[in-house]
Amino acid sequence: TLTATGLARRYGRDAGVHVVDLTLVPGQVTALLGPSGSGKSTLLRLIAGLEAPDAGEIRLGETVLSWPGQTVPPEHRGIGLMFQEHALFPHKTVLGNVTFGLSHLPRAEARDRALDLLRSLRLEDRAKAWPSTLSGGEQQRVALARALAREPAVLLMDEPFSGLDASLRAEVRDALTPALRAAGAAVLIVTHDAEDALAMADHLVLLDQGEVLQAGTPEACYLRPVSLAAARMLGPVE
Ligand code: ATP
Ligand code: MG
Repeated sequence: TLTATGLARRYGRDAGVHVVDLTLVPGQVTALLGPSGSGKSTLLRLIAGLEAPDAGEIRLGETVLSWPGQTVPPEHRGIGLMFQEHALFPHKTVLGNVTFGLSHLPRAEARDRALDLLRSLRLEDRAKAWPSTLSGGEQQRVALARALAREPAVLLMDEPFSGLDASLRAEVRDALTPALRAAGAAVLIVTHDAEDALAMADHLVLLDQGEVLQAGTPEACYLRPVSLAAARMLGPVE
């Protein structure tokens, strides 16, 4: 379990992340929803260890990963990252992309793990394909398989579907969600799309102007928003 307590990172007077508490539980998908500029990417960078907080701390289990002015770097904290712009290696096949970073495993084991993941994302027939021959949605799923192959304790995704059109988005999302839960990682998905958040999340966090407006199950947030601002984030409000 990853726990962020009293986390803050300010830019200027107002921008950034103010005092945020957040818990990511293994096997659960948490969606972080908020408008542009609300601090979603900043919070993700803090959790990833790409930035140190001004205040507060982040723990993974008992281990402190970040504290004011200090941070354990991303490659040393068992956290997987998937950003929209993270491209696949164009000169490696789909399978080569997914097994990249598994060089510590015996070849056959790495290959089996990759093929299992590709199967769970309905990509088994594309294993030998080159990235340039895949659709955008297939490329996203390969990128996810690559992130999951390393079995991260925590997986962070920033707008993973932003390059996809609406129908592809739903397709990728529906293939992804069970694979994410099965992987057993604590998953955080950043999105500004309420439909994605409601469809995927076990736990929903609404962020506005660097602060948590509401956190809870998608149902609770949707049916009992704590404020008009929270209600507006989740759907059309008269
Ligand atoms: P979007 O949906 O557009 O990606 P976001 O919720 O991810 O938005 P952030 O990128 O976290 O928002 O930015 C939050 C606020 O902090 C914004 O006002 C932004 O301009 C500011 N900000 C972010 N990074 C920096 C930085 N490195 N230096 C100065 N200001 C920053
Ligand atoms: Mg962002």
